[in-house]
Amino acid sequence: MFDKILIANRGEIALRVVRACREMGIQSVAVHSTADADAMHVRMADESICVGPAPGTDSYLSIPSIIAACEVTGAQAIHPGYGFLSENARFVQIVEDHDLKFIGPTAEHINMMGDKITAKDTMKDLGVPCVPGSDGGVPDLDAALKIGEEFGYPVIVKATAGGGGRGMKVANSAEEMKSAFPTARSEAKSNFGNDEVYIEKYLTTPRHIEIQVFGDGQGNAVHLGERDCSLQRRHQKVFEEAPGPCISPEERAKIGKTCADAVARIGYAGAGTIEFLYEKGEFYFIEMNTRLQVEHPVTENIFGVDLVREQIRVAAGMPLSFKQEDLKINGHSIEVRLNAERLPNFVPCPGQITQYHAPGGLGVRVDSALYDGYKIPPYYDSLIGKLIVHGRDRPEALARLNRALGELIIDGVETTVPLFHALLQEKDIHTGDYNIHWLEKWLEAGGLDRQ
Ligand code: ADP
Repeated sequence: MFDKILIANRGEIALRVVRACREMGIQSVAVHSTADADAMHVRMADESICVGPAPGTDSYLSIPSIIAACEVTGAQAIHPGYGFLSENARFVQIVEDHDLKFIGPTAEHINMMGDKITAKDTMKDLGVPCVPGSDGGVPDLDAALKIGEEFGYPVIVKATAGGGGRGMKVANSAEEMKSAFPTARSEAKSNFGNDEVYIEKYLTTPRHIEIQVFGDGQGNAVHLGERDCSLQRRHQKVFEEAPGPCISPEERAKIGKTCADAVARIGYAGAGTIEFLYEKGEFYFIEMNTRLQVEHPVTENIFGVDLVREQIRVAAGMPLSFKQEDLKINGHSIEVRLNAERLPNFVPCPGQITQYHAPGGLGVRVDSALYDGYKIPPYYDSLIGKLIVHGRDRPEALARLNRALGELIIDGVETTVPLFHALLQEKDIHTGDYNIHWLEKWLEAGGLDRQ
């Protein structure tokens, strides 16, 4: 096992990794930018080291600085968290070239899943059901129009190098395709430096269901059921839960086994998430994330496992500490993302926290790096915390979420907390009757104002 791990991230996820390290008796090293010198992850880690100025590109994304930080502190392994360098295959290669261990999959697997066309081809070959669409990249508008004809509108044009919900354009007709295709291409080029796009049938009422998988890198893998992340704004998740309210035990077992078998066959190591759209009882693969997800705590709650601990064990060459038959679902868990954003337009709202009080009690977990007086810097993502609840069933989890939100105090900046108070008034949230378009429609219809 490692003696010392460097965490190449910030905020709540860096703290999450510090906690796992401490429980395992491993020393942790926090890295930080000059803007984060007073951050909680820096205070909580055993050691810390500055890796550059405020902008992420000069600090948390600076590969030479991160590698040098390992050399200086004697860390043997790097946990990347999510975002930043977590899915950067070149970084993984450089880490290995320096005889350090990357806590995550191989560069080869990151590359395979980072290019969405390759990912889809691979998954199709492994027997995973995919969204119907173009066979690989679509070279020009003529080809795009032919595909629109063949599959029937609406279709969605997506960037093969896409991520974070960007680089996607829906076309409802051939006429719309004439602008959607070139726009998607140029957005793909400017956002990701790669203008290759592919086309999928656009599903109009799907849920977003993702399967958590874990491989040991030796050809063994398990699945830890699904998370339903259908409540999204601009393709970004805001509310996640496990198990999915509409997934039966039989469906879970079947799709879970398909996913676990697929990652076992490629010899995948560590945590991964296979994302699907789910409509009328069918699963359609959209992408695989080769890292820990923001919403991993809901899975941890219902299975009673520590996914970060497991990531570290697998990276150290140890076997998985659970078998598929050990993994039994206990209750229901919901996470809401606390963002420093001003409603109703979700504009980032950095600033100083004047008062902070975290809720507690049975079944309440808060993963956050906030503290009284903390100044949220304007340079990074607006996620400032996650409130996660666990109940014996979904109604209990929702009641607990309501109770915990009532106890939470974050003063000094505006946050997305009022959104969740409002959502909890909605019947559809209680019946679980929503799809990936529900939240946007509700916001457009003035859902926030009606409360
Ligand atoms: P990203 O990597 O940018 O997150 P994804 O492929 O995971 O992109 O898609 C993100 C979201 O976009 C999905 O959760 C869904 O809401 C929407 N989406 C993607 N593909 C389709 C599709 N074929 N039909 C309908 N919605 C889609």
